[in-house]
Amino acid sequence: MSDLEINQQLQEALQAFRDPETGRSVIATGQVGDFSVSDGRISFRYSITSLLKPISEEIIERLKSLITSRIPGVKEISIRLENLHKPPVPIGQIGLKAKAVIAVAAGKGGVGKSSLAASIALTLEKMGAKVGLMDADVYGPSIPHLLGLDGRPEIVDGKIQPKLCGSMPVMSMGFLLEKNQAVVWRGPMLHGSITQFLRDTDWGELDYLIIDMPPGTGDVALTLSQLLPLTGAVIVCTPQEVALLDAGKAIAMFEKTKIPILGVVENMSGFTDPETGKTYDIFGRGGARAKAEELQVPFLGEVPIQIALRRESDEGRLAEALQDPVLSKPFEAVCRGVVRSVAASFAQHAQSAALPVLSL
Ligand code: ADP
Repeated sequence: MSDLEINQQLQEALQAFRDPETGRSVIATGQVGDFSVSDGRISFRYSITSLLKPISEEIIERLKSLITSRIPGVKEISIRLENLHKPPVPIGQIGLKAKAVIAVAAGKGGVGKSSLAASIALTLEKMGAKVGLMDADVYGPSIPHLLGLDGRPEIVDGKIQPKLCGSMPVMSMGFLLEKNQAVVWRGPMLHGSITQFLRDTDWGELDYLIIDMPPGTGDVALTLSQLLPLTGAVIVCTPQEVALLDAGKAIAMFEKTKIPILGVVENMSGFTDPETGKTYDIFGRGGARAKAEELQVPFLGEVPIQIALRRESDEGRLAEALQDPVLSKPFEAVCRGVVRSVAASFAQHAQSAALPVLSL
């Protein structure tokens, strides 16, 4: 096949490739360009937003396999990734500038939900996305402790300035309470605080706002769903039967409030002895995957018990602990799963928005 023919077929193949964020053809959006075909070697540019950065490698692999399956005789494909700046449009009645809002929830306390919410936020940021973290676990806000953040947030021009963990904005009720102070929340007060956290905090422009939800109850989920369109919920559970039952209840609760389930994560799934390398399944293993299959929701991955993770987060050093590639590897896999689910949900919306309206 001549280079000219290859180029023509390449354009046709790319016409069929949809950008995972917009669901539109990458040719139509102008995200691919600067084509060169010479002696069977293809090269072009693909501009990608920071929202998709965590899965950029697999998008490139998908592109390459589409091209090789469609065009015989291609010797080499080189795709240059470039940054595409596409700011979020303000969402909900409160005008939050975030492309995806993700609730991290659990059916019961102590399964590692807050650790997972913070680790997902930190890892998505490390993988190239713009992320904010909101602690809506108003009954037991533990995000400030995990990240070693404290002190009262400042107010500048009427906006609450979030605390920064590195460059990631973080907001928590824990910043406003005295240590060990208990709060009894009445419905309207809870609604008011959550609204204020979302509306009056200077979040900037985000790809992902990760929200650490209180365990079990549905009131915060209800408030959130009234304020903005939540992209979906990530459910955290441990492999024990009782945790799995509670996870099932949490999933049912979200489905009732019409919040989509992005997937289930199994935390504390096995323990590998750092001395011997031997793995022990302390709470069992694989239950969350089976539960996800049963309920037909995506399974996002397993996070093993890691002693260093517990030790470092108890000392407020979770962000530092995740610099260790061994500790962060399972979270990277979970984050790729989350981004895949978010992209699938965007694509579904784009498709239903593109459905023609029948005029009768
Ligand atoms: P929850 O928000 O569900 O109540 P936390 O995130 O506060 O749970 O975690 C409870 C405890 O378990 C914390 O001490 C935390 O450091 C520890 N922990 C959570 N996940 C892991 C893990 N994968 N390995 C080791 N310790 C963990």
